[in-house]
Parts: sequence; structure tokens; C-alpha cells
Amino acid sequence: MQLKEHVPLKDHTTFRLGGSALYYVDVTGKEDIVEVVSFAEKKDLPFFVLGGGSNTVFSDKGFQGVVLHMRTKGIVLEREDTTHVFVRVEAGEDWDTFVEYCIKQGWYGLENLSYIPGTVGATPVQNIGAYGVEVSRVIFEVTVYDIQKHEFVTMSATDCKFTYRTSIFKEEMNRYIIVSVLFRLEKVYTPIITYKDVVESLHGKEVTAEKMREIIIDIRKNKLPDWKILPTAGSFFKNPEVTKVEGERLQTLFSTMPLYPHNDGYKIPAGFLIEHVADMKGFRHKGVGVYEKHALVLVNLGDGTYQELMELVHEIQEKVKTKTGVNLVPEVNIID
Ligand code: NAP
Repeated sequence: MQLKEHVPLKDHTTFRLGGSALYYVDVTGKEDIVEVVSFAEKKDLPFFVLGGGSNTVFSDKGFQGVVLHMRTKGIVLEREDTTHVFVRVEAGEDWDTFVEYCIKQGWYGLENLSYIPGTVGATPVQNIGAYGVEVSRVIFEVTVYDIQKHEFVTMSATDCKFTYRTSIFKEEMNRYIIVSVLFRLEKVYTPIITYKDVVESLHGKEVTAEKMREIIIDIRKNKLPDWKILPTAGSFFKNPEVTKVEGERLQTLFSTMPLYPHNDGYKIPAGFLIEHVADMKGFRHKGVGVYEKHALVLVNLGDGTYQELMELVHEIQEKVKTKTGVNLVPEVNIID
């Protein structure tokens, strides 16, 4: 294990802001995990597990503990039956490289989740979802290091408590370190065509998994900034979930507001609230702003700071709250 000190976290997060980590370690194997956890415990320091850094924002104070950056690699076909393959992937593998690899192998289920930045190990944490597919749909089990028990444990998909954009790994942030994920993928491709952008791109034509990946990549490239050019953490807020009564009340106030049935109520697009209710699409605040092509995405215009980002976040939240009564909650992990 190689510990580094005072490592700038902006170099390891796609929003490219925040201070330094007191200690930082690139984790390349299971033994590193055991060693670094024991180091943090002896020094009584908190730790934080970083995947691709695409969904995390650190404050300008940095992180006064140990940051573990998962770099473990490996994709193994463990077993198969007539309809499915079971593929184990180490946490540090790049997510989109894995998605592309699966499609080439004829293993299906991940196409709609193409082109999402980050690592495989980060995907169960917030149960990533896009264009009608959540990753929990294809996760069979997750192997973790349980900090409380000091042992490696395998958790079933049920144990992971996946729900909308969350899981036990997000709810109990500092208990588990995800080591690998076992995916159950299909041998026959079944397209999922529920979202408007996908429906419109297809024009009613049949689609292969390769073509679906191309379509999703095109949609995302057109709507979302490339974080290497315009630093961002993608969608900043969760889509609020409201009751049926509340959703219908809001639609009488904002007649074009979409309502998507969700659990017993509705899900409202946070992007709609920021664009049409707060009227902040393209809005700039010092070094940060709301992306001009997609209001759910906040961006670092170059030299933005955490402080400036939080000012912008509060302004958005306040405007939306005042006009609708709805609380916008960040989807991004904010480490203050
Ligand atoms: P969109 O298609 O413009 O739709 C706006 C929102 O409405 C989405 O967030 C989506 O919720 C919801 N929605 C749209 N069609 C729906 C349907 N048929 N059934 C249920 N809900 C529907 O959204 P977008 O911003 O361009 O994003 C497209 C997809 O990529 C979404 O699934 C989004 O979550 C995902 N995405 C995620 C990130 C990220 O950083 N986490 C970034 C970009 C896009 P859901 O978000 O619940 O799907």
C-alpha cells in the first residue's frame, strides 16, 4: 500500500474543485483495503471511497482523513445457464468500457446505461439509472469489505436494499467498501424503449444492442457536457417524488410539468423545475453555473469553488421551494 499525503482532490473528481485529502491511497487489491482500513482506525481518521470521482464534490477544506481510490481490475465470466451469464467485475473497472465489452460478448442488459462516467464499484451505491433501466435490475450480488465486521462479505441484491437512486451503500456510507459486483446478464437482447429521446431516435425501427448503445451515446453527447472540457458531476439533484395530490396540484400551477407515475405518487423532473419554475437554465454564479443545454446539470466554468457551488445550489433550492413547496435534494455526494 502506498499512502500519499496532501493530494488535491480536484485532480480526482470530475467537478474539479475542493481541497486536498490528508491521506490518499490507490487501492489495487483486497490486501490494500484491509491495510488502509486498519491504518485509518489506528489514527482514528475517517475514510472515503472514491470510484471515478464523477458523483462526488469535496469542500474547499478538503478531506481530513484517508481517501481510498479504487483501481482494482478484472472481468471474469463465472458461470452461465441457458438464458444468462454471471460476470464478476472488480470495483475499479471503468463502467462504460465494461458496458461496451458486454455488448461485444453478446451479454445484454446494460445498453441503456452506456456512456455514464465512473467505475463499476460506484454503480450499486446510488443504483445508477438511465433511460428506464436501473443497474439493480442486473446485479446478482455485491462483494464488500464490511468495516464493522472486519471481513469480506457477499451481499445478495436483496441485502443491498436498492431503491430509486439509492442503496444500503449510500444509506450506511462508511460501513461497506465495494470490492466486486456479480452481474446477471441476458443472452438474448430485449430493448427497453420507454423514454421520449430514445423513442424519437428510433422512429419505430427495430434495434440491436449495438445500435441502442450508439443511440444512447448520441443522446448523452448532445445533452450533457464532456467533463474533461466542462467539469461537472452530471445530474446534480434527484427527481423529487411527490404524492398524487401534490403532483396534481403542481400541474395546475405549471401545466406543462410532466408527472411520471412512481410508487404511489409521481416523480417530477428536477430539470423541469430548475428550467421552467426557477428560470435558471444557463444561469451563472461566479465560477459555476447551470448548464445551458440541460438545467439538471451544474458545471464548473473554470475556477469555481465549493463555496460558490453551494451558493448556487441554495439559490436553486430556494427558488424552487418558494414557488412549489418542493425540496430539491442533491443526488451528488457532497463531502463537507
Ligand atoms: P429526460 O429524458 O429529459 O427526462 C427528464 C426526467 O424525467 C428524467 O430524469 C427521468 O427520470 C424522467 N422521465 C423521462 N421519461 C420518463 C419515463 N418514460 N418514465 C419515467 N420517468 C421518465 O431526462 P434526461 O435528463 O435527459 O436523462 C435521461 C436519463 O439519463 C434519465 O433516466 C436520467 O436519470 C439519466 N441521467 C442520469 C445522469 C446522472 O448524472 N445521474 C445524468 C444524465 C442523465 P429518471 O431520472 O428517474 O430516469
